[in-house]
Amino acid sequence: MKPLAYLTGYAPEIIEEVSDMLASDELGAWLLAKYPQCHPYRNEKALYAYAQELKTRYMRQSPALAKVAYDPRLHVLHNALGIHRKVSQVHGNRLSARNEIRIAAMFRKAPQAFLDMILVHELAHLKVSEHDRSFYQLCRHMAPDYDQMELDTRVWLTYTDSVGDLYEADAGPA
Ligand SMILES: [Zn+2]
Repeated sequence: MKPLAYLTGYAPEIIEEVSDMLASDELGAWLLAKYPQCHPYRNEKALYAYAQELKTRYMRQSPALAKVAYDPRLHVLHNALGIHRKVSQVHGNRLSARNEIRIAAMFRKAPQAFLDMILVHELAHLKVSEHDRSFYQLCRHMAPDYDQMELDTRVWLTYTDSVGDLYEADAGPA
C-alpha cells in the first residue's frame, strides 16, 4: 500500500482508518457526506476580500496583506499547501516589502472548511513564522476547529492523490 504522506505524524489508528476507507472505496463518499458543498470564493478578488475579512476580524494588529492568489504552480507536495512571502520592491532608492499569500489552485474548488484552514494557516504566518505553540494557538483563535479542519483537509489531499478530483466535476464554472 502507498504510504499516506499527508497524514505523517497522525496516530496509527487514524492512518489505518483512512487507509481502510480508501481501500474499500468509501473515502470519497465519506468526504462528500461531511463536506457536500464548495465555497463561493472562486476568483481572486473574492478570495482577497474574504481573506481581508478574516484578517480584520481576528488579527487587527498584523502587517498589511497586498495580495492573495490561487497559484497553479503550487503543488501540494512537501506540505506546501500555501505559501506566504514578502516581496521586495524598489521604490526609487527605498526598498519595501509587501506580504502575499499564495495557495494551491486545487483550493479554488474545495469545501469552505478546507479553504478556511489554509487561509487561517497562512494568515497566522504573517505574525508567527514557525509552526510552534503560539502559531497553532493563533490558528485556533481564528478557527476553533482548526485541528479537525487540517486533518480533514489532509484526508481530502490523500484522496485526491490516490483517486483524483472530488469536487471538480459538479462544482460548476469558476
Ligand atoms: Zn505553515
